[in-house]
Amino acid sequence: MPELSPFAERMPRSGIRRVMDAAWASGRDVIGMHVGEPSFVPPPHVLDAAKRAYDQGDTHYVANAGVPALRAAIVDKLAEQNGIRVGADQVIVSAGGAEALHVAFSMTLEAGDEALIPDPGWPNYAMAVGLLQATPIGYGLRPENGFLPRVDELERMVTSRTKLLVVNSPSNPLGSVIPGEAMEELVRFAERHGIWLLSDECYDALTYGVEHVSPARFDRHGVVLSAFSFSKTYAMTGVRVGYLVCPPEVAPVAAKLQEPMIACVNAPAQAAAIAALRGPQDAVAQMRDAYARRRELAMRLLDENGIGYLEPHGAFYIWVDVRELAPEPVDDWALRLLDEKGVAVAPGTAFGAGGEGWVRLSLAASDDDIREGIARISSMR
Ligand code: PLP
Repeated sequence: MPELSPFAERMPRSGIRRVMDAAWASGRDVIGMHVGEPSFVPPPHVLDAAKRAYDQGDTHYVANAGVPALRAAIVDKLAEQNGIRVGADQVIVSAGGAEALHVAFSMTLEAGDEALIPDPGWPNYAMAVGLLQATPIGYGLRPENGFLPRVDELERMVTSRTKLLVVNSPSNPLGSVIPGEAMEELVRFAERHGIWLLSDECYDALTYGVEHVSPARFDRHGVVLSAFSFSKTYAMTGVRVGYLVCPPEVAPVAAKLQEPMIACVNAPAQAAAIAALRGPQDAVAQMRDAYARRRELAMRLLDENGIGYLEPHGAFYIWVDVRELAPEPVDDWALRLLDEKGVAVAPGTAFGAGGEGWVRLSLAASDDDIREGIARISSMR
């Protein structure tokens, strides 16, 4: 057999998948708090728009960068909700936020370059950077720093190969939100070193009592690339639409890269995305309210059971401290929790070495599962 690419062979599987596979293999009805998938369905007008597009034969290739009506709707959304003022030529429609990130990595990294990524952070950053033969370098988000990036530490991590800093707020898995002042400091850091700041804002619509601040607001020198998604805001994970926002000079390069990657995003999916942005927004508010309620519930139950956690201000996760409950490495503990109590959680180390001793619970789970799941976690003492 011919050889595979060494990285493709070496790339570790997602640590969440390990728990997922074990849950499926057990054949039991487990309490699932491990998956970051909204339990909601997209609003009906969004689905109708996609159906109409199929019925009308809207099934041909479209522009690499997306259909003009969607790019225009995104420009309005960015101005109204994110305080980012850009032209439609700066918006590249992508196959979910995941592909927006791939485009951004592909246009900034070469083999051997380094990208600073959050640890704990979404595991796909390290995988995507590795696919380009570049090196992901984790920067710590630790309890003693309020789980926020520290610029003095980042300063010490910069080398001549550093090309990019990934910032994710609201954070998966932490649920933390980077305040405006700290965000501005990160932009200045990127400017100082002449590196890109790639901002993953896939949870921008989901914050609780704090404001989501987009770093592009502070971008004076064209260093910020911003990735967004329809997946979480509109419960459209399988529809696969997101977008990358770039400085004007680099947007044509991003559009060009779409050709070998995906050519263009599914046209009916783009029709759905237009309906999502231009139509009523009450479904977004309802989902946010449901997550907010479950967040309150989970925090109350964790408090009652004396289990520590990071109070989440965004996304739909809660980062739980199981150091007192888990004598073994947390990925083994997560499998034991599944085996002994039938509860599936995402072990912290699935998000980087910095997640040792912690687990991520998803608030996409139902109220009943949150109640029962936390009770069973507590019984692991
Ligand atoms: N970024 C983060 C932090 C995520 O958690 C996810 C999905 O879970 C994504 C990006 C990508 O989502 P999608 O490709 O569905 O837009």
